[in-house]
Amino acid sequence: MEVEMVLEDCPHCGGDAKFAGLADWPYLSYIVFCPGCLVKGPQGPDYYMAGLLWNERSNAEPAADDAVARACAFCADEVVVEGNNGVGNEPGHKGTLYFRACSDCLARGPHVRDKDGTLEAWNRRVGGS
Ligand SMILES: [Zn+2]
Ligand SMILES: [Zn+2]
Repeated sequence: MEVEMVLEDCPHCGGDAKFAGLADWPYLSYIVFCPGCLVKGPQGPDYYMAGLLWNERSNAEPAADDAVARACAFCADEVVVEGNNGVGNEPGHKGTLYFRACSDCLARGPHVRDKDGTLEAWNRRVGGS
């Protein structure tokens, strides 16, 4: 069951986004994700909401002058993006990828192999300004 909706490109790498099925994500969740960099969008109660949340973009600038992480690309939450390195558990990548996550909307940034590279990956944005 998929929703007919035009999905915006990935805010981090500009790649094509798609609704995630169980083959793409290890547990059932209504999310949009980017197969290119494995960004995971905000979790919705259904695919329709997940699509709307994915298409919502924030003009994310650092929350403060001394903030190292930009605000969440989707919900613009400025507080929760720091820290929270997790080990990715996507199929085929178990325990090998790291990412930053927004604890408000549960979006995840790009998944990278270098544990120290998550912040740079999170801050990378395409389009907008
Ligand atoms: Zn991407
Ligand atoms: Zn967020």
